[in-house]
Amino acid sequence: MVWNVRKAAVIGAGVMGSAIAAHLANAGIPCMLLDLEGLADRGIAKLKETKPAPLYDPAFVSRITAGDLDKDLAVLASCDWIIEAVSERLEVKHAVWGKIASVWKPGIVVSSNTSGLSIDAIVSVCGEEMRSYSVVTHFFNPPRYMKLVEVVPCSKSDPTLVKEVATFCRDRLGKGVVIAKDTPNFIANRIGTYAMLATLRAMEKHGLSVEEVDAVTGPLMGRPKSATFRTLDIVGLDTFLHVCRNVREQTDDALEAAAFAAPPLIEELVSRGWLGDKSGCGFYRKD
Ligand code: NAD
Repeated sequence: MVWNVRKAAVIGAGVMGSAIAAHLANAGIPCMLLDLEGLADRGIAKLKETKPAPLYDPAFVSRITAGDLDKDLAVLASCDWIIEAVSERLEVKHAVWGKIASVWKPGIVVSSNTSGLSIDAIVSVCGEEMRSYSVVTHFFNPPRYMKLVEVVPCSKSDPTLVKEVATFCRDRLGKGVVIAKDTPNFIANRIGTYAMLATLRAMEKHGLSVEEVDAVTGPLMGRPKSATFRTLDIVGLDTFLHVCRNVREQTDDALEAAAFAAPPLIEELVSRGWLGDKSGCGFYRKD
């Protein structure tokens, strides 16, 4: 199979889906951005507010067309690549992958941007042939700057296709690709989420403030300003919570399950609707 992406669709116009669509548009690929009714327009409006950057020119937003997943479902059949970037809950992924399966045709690659749900579990609602075209393409946040993409095959993925997706992400999207196994949270998030939780526990134990933790885990250690709490605000506290819960549900190791317990503080902020940048307030208020 020689896979060429002339047109793509991204489902989920939230933090990641909108930014992935922008990255594709910047690479010259026309892109549909689909969400629940009316929400994709909101994603595009946010992209237009983004300041130009070396790897990002907001003018390319014109290559992105907004749509409603239910009304515009048929358009998926005209795309070469469908990227699912909806909320990190298996039942939501299943609902969306079931819809994709109803219009899917051989030749269309379907990938999930899941942070660490099992791709075999996600594709369980699809037929055998579609599974051979399905993988994870896990972009990191923000996709225009973060180099890494984890490509994770499911047990039925066609190995040639996996290579082609990896090559496309490297050569056309400028990414550094790692092929990972279908284990909870794959590689980078398994380590990154663990480190984040360890930092949160240390903060509580030693009575440190949010600003103190960001100060010592940021530029002073040679890391970006956004090292800990700013990163959580960028990621979205609800998404972080889902990622922690998913590992706990997928692991049969009691020590690991304990290590991935999210502190009550995160639960509290999420229950208040303080989800981070996307809701205007998390650990920090967004300007
Ligand atoms: P988000 O909450 O910002 O956006 C999710 C979007 O999915 C929302 O716009 C929502 O309306 C849409 N959605 C929910 N149910 C839907 C449905 N049934 N049909 C269509 N659209 C629906 O989440 P996000 O942070 O963009 O995360 C999306 C995916 O990317 C998740 O799997 C997440 O784990 C993964 N991810 C997130 C990050 C991050 O830093 N936030 C990084 C890498 C991967």
